[in-house]
Amino acid sequence: MADQFAVIGLGRFGLSIAKKLYESGRDVLGVDVNEERADEAQNYVTHSVIADSTDPEALKSIGIRNFDTVIVAIGNDIQASILSVLLLKELGVNKVIAKALNKLHGEVLKKVGADWVVFPERDMGIRVAHQLISPKVLNF
Ligand code: ATP
Repeated sequence: MADQFAVIGLGRFGLSIAKKLYESGRDVLGVDVNEERADEAQNYVTHSVIADSTDPEALKSIGIRNFDTVIVAIGNDIQASILSVLLLKELGVNKVIAKALNKLHGEVLKKVGADWVVFPERDMGIRVAHQLISPKVLNF
């Protein structure tokens, strides 16, 4: 469904995306393998669940294919990030957005089917520089 989002990985990056989407009226499912992270997110998303996104059965049981857009906000565990993107595309998720830690990670994410790869540190650095060059342009 178009306005339904799932965010996998509820660290600072994933949770800030999930919160913003939820605040703007979207349905957001938060997913984390860590029970504490999933619990902490309860108040900021429509629903949050504990699940391992590298497990195809877990993804199926939370009905992940019904979400139009899934954000994979796992960074440090590169293997889990890549495997999750691969499984989500295999399960038929329309749009998969994934966070990359570095260029090579980003290239692999693209190869396994990510529709949009974001590099939070790099992109934020560019944004800060833009802000310094043209301080009158408010872009946040
Ligand atoms: P951030 O930089 O966004 O704060 P972080 O430093 O906590 O993140 P990451 O390794 O990027 O570390 O993990 C982000 C979140 O993804 C964590 O809450 C972690 O529990 C979750 N996560 C890691 N692997 C999986 C997985 N296989 N399935 C679901 N969630 C996972």
